[in-house]
Amino acid sequence: MVRVRFAPSPTGFLHIGGARTALFNWLYAQSQKGTFILRIEDTDAARSKKQYLDEILYSLEWLGFRWDELYYQSQRFDIYREYAQRLVKEKKAYYAEKMPIEETANGDGNQQKENKFYSEQTKHAIILKVPQQKTSFVDLIRGPIEFDTSVIKDQVLIKSDGTPTYNFACVIDDALMNITHVIRGDDHISNTPKQLLLYEALGFKQPFFAHLPLILAKEGGRLSKRKGATAISEFRAQGYLPEALVNFLLLLGWSPGADREIIDIKEAIQLFDIRKVNKTAAVLDLEKLNWINSEYIKRADADKLAEQIIPLLCERNLIDKNNFDRNYLISLIKLFQSRMTFVHDFIERADSFFVKEVTIDPKDKERFLNRNLSREFSLFLKRIESLSEFKPEAIEAEFRALVSELGIQSKDLIHPLRVALTGKTVGPGLFEVIAVLGKERTKERLSRWIKQES
Ligand code: GLU
Repeated sequence: MVRVRFAPSPTGFLHIGGARTALFNWLYAQSQKGTFILRIEDTDAARSKKQYLDEILYSLEWLGFRWDELYYQSQRFDIYREYAQRLVKEKKAYYAEKMPIEETANGDGNQQKENKFYSEQTKHAIILKVPQQKTSFVDLIRGPIEFDTSVIKDQVLIKSDGTPTYNFACVIDDALMNITHVIRGDDHISNTPKQLLLYEALGFKQPFFAHLPLILAKEGGRLSKRKGATAISEFRAQGYLPEALVNFLLLLGWSPGADREIIDIKEAIQLFDIRKVNKTAAVLDLEKLNWINSEYIKRADADKLAEQIIPLLCERNLIDKNNFDRNYLISLIKLFQSRMTFVHDFIERADSFFVKEVTIDPKDKERFLNRNLSREFSLFLKRIESLSEFKPEAIEAEFRALVSELGIQSKDLIHPLRVALTGKTVGPGLFEVIAVLGKERTKERLSRWIKQES
């Protein structure tokens, strides 16, 4: 049974690299019908913050990486100490200084003696004796890796403040939690030989290791905030869909083959193989992420998008949460979703569909509505008013008939109509726009214009 873990330290937000590690662990667990464990490595009380922890948990849930088990290292200090003391007893580790064990003068029983012993002990670091030898392991992604451990100094297991070191707590937990595959970023490769020594000293069975390739910024070099190493919460705030972000993370080191870029998570679970992850560094291409996001918006269910769009419309007072035409909203989302990169693009593009009076930029007015068009608009209205089926094809047929009757070019009427109806100079096909606006709104909007002109 495969058991994997994601082990973030809540000393910062969940970033792209961490989210990719979480994804590959989660995905491997799903593909093997295994267990995905979340282990919060909060041994550093000074640097671990609740705010970071909350963000990490929220972001993982938002991305859809449900964990089956959750542990906090800060609740396991006794376990680490017990194993460190066992190593001391077995003479594989030692206290940093000679331990002053004082007999209690007024000794009233063993309990006090034991407490004293314990508190004295916590002031002393426990250190592993590192044998001089070579060690090696086979990384599932990178193949065989050999280390000369003679360069590794004796390792601190428990610091003098009583907290365990990362390598020690990590090995104890991976072993006790029966982790079968340690999948993590390749910045941890240099920790692996130290951890292997610990497995040996403790007599624990080694897991498999898989180190994921580095993620580089597109402009070269390591990721930094400026180069896109943004927290997942910021991606969320910027209007990326979780499915799109997950698809993007998937391609950071893995490919479903045949140059495919859009892949459904269910299919990815079927195809994913940790051994097929690339050795070479992945490049963070945010333009690609934008493209993927637009593809996901295009394919998204309009009702689902509406759930994200409704609060944005309410915020801008474009609709009343308790009283709006949902069918109209859904038709508009369907009309615009192929032209959006972000969910909030809808607001900019479609805001004028929700107002009573369309505002027109004076420059656009000057360019497209600089002549009296009331006759053309009235004739167009008359034609479409009599349509029994208010569909784009029928509206277009009336429009074509009218321009030929008037002996004008289509563009001479298309642009003025679009600007008068929507206040925008670009947008989806005019006949689709009119069909979604509906007969009443179209009539209202054009009549207002006709009245102004006459
Ligand atoms: N807490 C470590 C980190 O955030 C975990 C490393 C590991 O997966 O072993 O990098």
